[in-house]
Amino acid sequence: MKRTDSEWKRILSQEEYRILREKGTERAFTGEYDGHFEEGMYVCAGCGNDLFESDTKYRSGCGWPAFYDALPESVEETKDNNFGMKRIEITCSKCESHLGHVFNDGPDPTGLRYCINSVSMDFKLDEKK
Ligand code: FE
Repeated sequence: MKRTDSEWKRILSQEEYRILREKGTERAFTGEYDGHFEEGMYVCAGCGNDLFESDTKYRSGCGWPAFYDALPESVEETKDNNFGMKRIEITCSKCESHLGHVFNDGPDPTGLRYCINSVSMDFKLDEKK
């Protein structure tokens, strides 16, 4: 799914555009989903692609929503050496929007911490639970 830059500007809010398309970061501890623990699915704010299940969300204390796993093939990883840090950037596999980064200091069973901007996601409540 490809959109032009002017389409993204029209569809997204300024803050969404800054984070999703310009790889920005929301301020720590301010995001809508940082302390959010309902049962359901976190989807891409750019295209609605399913990304993270609530079962994999945990309290990392880092200031952003953290997950120990992503849904298969939902995200892409890219080396990010900006700001003098060696990090792995996470983007949506469908629309290439910036989501956050993944680190190796997460809990079992994966040991991973997907550190994701709240702004990059929407939440779909699981009505059955
Ligand atoms: Fe997307």
